[in-house]
Amino acid sequence: MRAFIPNYQLITSKSLSETLSLLASEPGVWQPFAGGTDLMVLLESGKLVHKNYLNIWNLPELRGITATPDHLTLGALVTYTEVQSDPILREEFPMLCQAASETGGLAIQNRGTIGGNIANASPAADSPPALLAYNAELELLSVRGSRWVPYQTFHTGYKEMIMQPDELLARVRLPRRWPDLHHYYRKVGTRKAQAISKVCMAATARVSDGTVDHIRIAFGSIAPVPLRCLKTEDVLHGAKLEGSIVEKARAALAREIVPIDDIRSTKDYRLKVSLNLLEDFLRGLASDSW
Ligand SMILES: Cc1cc2nc3c(=O)[nH]c(=O)nc-3n(C[C@H](O)[C@H](O)[C@H](O)COP(=O)(O)OP(=O)(O)OC[C@H]3O[C@@H](n4cnc5c(N)ncnc54)[C@H](O)[C@@H]3O)c2cc1C
Repeated sequence: MRAFIPNYQLITSKSLSETLSLLASEPGVWQPFAGGTDLMVLLESGKLVHKNYLNIWNLPELRGITATPDHLTLGALVTYTEVQSDPILREEFPMLCQAASETGGLAIQNRGTIGGNIANASPAADSPPALLAYNAELELLSVRGSRWVPYQTFHTGYKEMIMQPDELLARVRLPRRWPDLHHYYRKVGTRKAQAISKVCMAATARVSDGTVDHIRIAFGSIAPVPLRCLKTEDVLHGAKLEGSIVEKARAALAREIVPIDDIRSTKDYRLKVSLNLLEDFLRGLASDSW
C-alpha cells in the first residue's frame, strides 16, 4: 500500500516569483507542498495520485499575521500554533483560535497551515466554518497578478475550487471592527480530541434592543463543501430574540440543509446535531442578551 518514493518529485524554489513561474510554466504539473500534514498521509497510504510538488514552506511572503485598522491578514503558511498565540486573533476572532486548538494534536498544529486546510478542500476541515462566519477573503496569486475572492465563493463542489492550477493561495484576510459580536464554535466528533468532525458549526451574531441585527451561520462536514446557511440567516436577521425564534430557526435550517451520509456519520445524525447546535447557539445568545 505504500507509495513508491522514486515516482515522486519535491523541489524547493528560491523565491515566490520562481514558484509562480513554475506553476505557470506547466499548469497542473506542480502542486504546492506546505506543511505536508494532508499530503504525507496520502503518501504513506499509497493514495497520493499527484507526483510533482513545489515546497513553499520557506517563502517569507506567505508567513506572518499583519493588522491594519480594517483587516487582519494571515499568510497562507500561518500554522495552527501561530493562530492560537496571536493576541488579535484571540481577542477578535476566537472561533478561529478554537478551531486551531481542536485541529489534530500539537505536532499537527505546529506544522499544519491555514492555507493547506483551505486548499485541501476537505468538507470536514475545521477552520472553514469559522472563516465563513468571519466573512474571510482569500488572495490568489499567479504570474497574472493578485486577485482577492470572498471565501464564500471559493469551494464550488467536492474538492473543487475556483483556484486555477497556476495560482497559489497567498493570504487570508479577515474584516475587523465587529464589536459586541457573539461567537459560537462547536466541533462534534467521535471523541473530544483528535477526531475528525461529524458536524462543525461556527456562527456570529449581534443583538441590539432584543433584535438580531447581525447573523452568520456556517457548517462543516454536512455537505460536499463548507456551507454558509444564508436562508436560515435571513429568517433570523431582524427577528426578535424571543421563545419562538428557536422553532423558526430549526425549521429554516431543516429546509436549507441536506446533510451527507459517509463513513464518519449518517445524514439523520448530522441533521439532528446541526439543529441542536443551532438551538444551543440561540439559547446562549438569548441568555447572554437578557
Ligand atoms: C493526525 C492528523 C490530524 C488532523 N486533524 C485535523 C483536524 O482535526 N481538523 C482539520 O481540519 N484537519 C485536520 N488534519 C488535516 C491537516 O492537518 C490540515 O488540513 C492542515 O491544515 C493542512 O495544511 P498543510 O500545510 O499541512 O497542507 P499540505 O498537506 O501541505 O497541503 C494540502 C493541500 O493543499 C494544497 N496547498 C497547501 N498550501 C497551499 C497554498 N498556499 N496554495 C495552494 N495550494 C496549497 C496542497 O497542494 C495540497 O493539495 C489532520 C491531519 C492529520 C495527519
